[in-house]
Amino acid sequence: MKIIETAKEMQMTAERLRLEGKTIGFVPTMGYLHEGHLALVKKARELCDIVVVSIFVNPTQFGPNEDIDKYPRDFERDKRLLDQEKTDITFFPDKKEMYPDQYFTYVQVRELEDHLCGLSRKGHFVGVTTIVTKLFNIVKPHYAVFGQKDYQQLIIIQRMVRDLNMDIEIVSFPTVREDGGLAMSSRNTYLSPEEREKGLLIYASIKRVEELFKGGERNTNSLRKEAEKILSSRDGIDIEYINISDAETLKELDYIQDKKAVLAIACRIGKTRLIDNTILTEA
Ligand code: AMP
Repeated sequence: MKIIETAKEMQMTAERLRLEGKTIGFVPTMGYLHEGHLALVKKARELCDIVVVSIFVNPTQFGPNEDIDKYPRDFERDKRLLDQEKTDITFFPDKKEMYPDQYFTYVQVRELEDHLCGLSRKGHFVGVTTIVTKLFNIVKPHYAVFGQKDYQQLIIIQRMVRDLNMDIEIVSFPTVREDGGLAMSSRNTYLSPEEREKGLLIYASIKRVEELFKGGERNTNSLRKEAEKILSSRDGIDIEYINISDAETLKELDYIQDKKAVLAIACRIGKTRLIDNTILTEA
C-alpha cells in the first residue's frame, strides 16, 4: 500500500491511473478505523480497480467545544488494517496541506443542514462538504463510498454532487453494528462498559419503532414517544433529538404517508455524543 501525504502527488497519481483506464473508488475517513470503515473499503474494492482511503481529522467540521484534540488516532494500526483490505493508496495529509495559510473557500449545501445534527453542530456540514469537495478534487474518484450511519451527511453529499455536477457516483453502505446493535463509531472508544450498555438502548428504541411501523403505526408522535420511553428508561442518556423526517428533504413529518422516512436519534451518554438512524419504508 502506498501512502501519499501531499495533494499534488495524489492528484498526479490519480490522473495517471485514470489515463491507464483504471476506476478509482474512494473512502474518506477520519481514521481510528473499525469494521464499519472496513466494510466501506471492501465495497470500494468490489466496485473499482484502485481503492483510495483518506485519513484526515478535519478541523473545519468540529465546533469550538467539540472533541478534535482528543479525537482518537492510531495511524500505525489504521495502516495495518487498510493493508489487510488490499487498499492501494492511503491519502494522509496534514492540516497545513489541506488548509494552508489564507484559506478562504467553503462549500455549503443549504436547507439540508437546517435539520437534525445541523441544528446543534452549527457549521459542521459546511466543514464536511468543504473537505469532501477538496478530497474529491485531489483523489479524482469515479465512486465514493459513504456510510448510512451518518445519514444527514450522506444526503448532503448526494445533493452536493448533484447540484455541483460532480462526476462521481456516491455509493451508500448500511450501518455496521457491534454485537448487541450499537452502531460502530470511532467515538465508541470513549464509552465505559456501563455507558456502552446504555448505548444499546438506542438500537433497542430503533428496533421498537421499526416493529410498530411494520405493525401499521404511521403517526410519528406515537412512534417517537415509544423511542423516548426506551431511552428514558435509564438515567444518564441525554436525548438531543428523536426525529422522524422525510428521508430526502429531512423535514419533520407528522404522518408517514407514501414517503420514505428516516428515524434519526442523537443522544449524549456521559461525554460521548452518539447518533443512529433507520429508514422506515413500506417493504
Ligand atoms: P468517520 O471516520 O467517522 O468520518 O467515517 C468515515 C466514513 O465511515 C463515513 O462515510 C461514515 O458514515 C462511515 N461509517 C462510520 N461508522 C460506520 C458504521 N458503523 N457503519 C457504516 N459506515 C460507517
